[in-house]
Amino acid sequence: MSQSNADKFLEDSSTISFDLRHRDIITNNIDKYNTAFEKGKSKFHDLENAKKKANLIKWKVMENLDRYLVEFETNFTAQGGKVIWANDAEEARQEIWKIFEKHNASSVIKSKSMATEEIELNQFLETKGIDSVESDLGEYIIQLLGHKPYHFVTPAMHLSLEDIAKLFHEKFDTPLEATAEELTMKARELLRDKYNTADIGITGANFLVAESGSIAITENEGNARLTTTFPKVHIAVVGIEKIIPSIGDLDLFWPLLATHGTGQNLTVYNSILSGPRKANETDGPEEMYVVLLDNGRTNLLAKKEQRQGLYCIRCGSCLNVCPIYQNIGGHTYETTYQGPIGSLISPHLNGMKEFKHLSNASTLCGKCTEVCPVNIDIQKMLLLNRKDAVDEGLAPASEEKIWKGYTTVVKKRRWLDFFGGRFKNFIMRNFFKKAWGDKRELPEFADKSFTKQWKEQQKNKD
Ligand code: SF4
Repeated sequence: MSQSNADKFLEDSSTISFDLRHRDIITNNIDKYNTAFEKGKSKFHDLENAKKKANLIKWKVMENLDRYLVEFETNFTAQGGKVIWANDAEEARQEIWKIFEKHNASSVIKSKSMATEEIELNQFLETKGIDSVESDLGEYIIQLLGHKPYHFVTPAMHLSLEDIAKLFHEKFDTPLEATAEELTMKARELLRDKYNTADIGITGANFLVAESGSIAITENEGNARLTTTFPKVHIAVVGIEKIIPSIGDLDLFWPLLATHGTGQNLTVYNSILSGPRKANETDGPEEMYVVLLDNGRTNLLAKKEQRQGLYCIRCGSCLNVCPIYQNIGGHTYETTYQGPIGSLISPHLNGMKEFKHLSNASTLCGKCTEVCPVNIDIQKMLLLNRKDAVDEGLAPASEEKIWKGYTTVVKKRRWLDFFGGRFKNFIMRNFFKKAWGDKRELPEFADKSFTKQWKEQQKNKD
């Protein structure tokens, strides 16, 4: 029998949690984030109020998503852009391929986009013989390594400077002791030409602005700007939840995203693109397409409570504070979106049966909810996912029996006391040892129950 996703998740988690090198790299990178975040956060006059406002806007959008998406389409189309509605990954890939055929395109420059990761666009284009190059430095590094993103904001977070220097040394013969700046310059030198020669530029978008029919892209390296400027065709692949009502809302969402994503007050480059190049403009593509991607998002929208998972602006903050993510890292999830938000949305995007185990990958400490800039009640949503899995009959029959037995016993002190310590230890050793893992000692039950010990203590006092 093939290994289930849940078993693989447990196995990989227990291996990586004890990989001390991995832990050192992650701790170091997350520490840097924490320092920047604390500083960035202090610049808000009233952060809690900003979060409340962002939550309200996203709530309004999700309750009226159909209306806002059509408004976006109308306004974007009026400016010469073309909108493609894609129900799923396959439809998105096929529609994108039609654009390639129409333009006889053979090369692509890409900027960072999780939606294209979701539809595995690079892998698809490779099967078609298309040369697709990632231009975001982190994405470029993991593309060279053949890795998937480790973190949806910082895709190469699992690599140290030494790892990257070694990679560049092997691929491009740079010195092993090259500094971060030298490596960046090398990547820049390698990528510059690609912007000029690529037939098509592909990006994601951080926001879709309904009122103006625009996409807004936020980045630190300037590569998205070049990707959307040089090639004759620009395709943006964007999840339908990225919509916001008006351009004025960026005033709130840009600083929230920058602060929670990287600790910056504002990300370095923020571009608003409203259709292809106009007659009086000097740069920009001749054609611009926006692929509006559903790919399971409407399953989540159909859930009255969990639909707040669609408010997410992908800042990555909940990953950075999550004790589970900090220990097991991003690749263990085997999903495009990792960490607490990934655990919340992936069962709805990729299948409850295959990914319900992620809803249990949480200590429910609530730190994710506390930091979320759009106030998503993540830990409550994870509990609701667990309930859904049970309601859909996806929990194993043994689990149901165990919980029934456990509930009966713990509800009555008489039952709890009935089983002595030896019996309880026997049950632990024989039924829970595997789940407990071999890296920590099983808890020992005392021989005498609490009631017995209490009574004896009282008696001795008298
Ligand atoms: S759920 Fe909240 S904290 Fe997590 S990535 Fe999304 S917006 Fe950021």
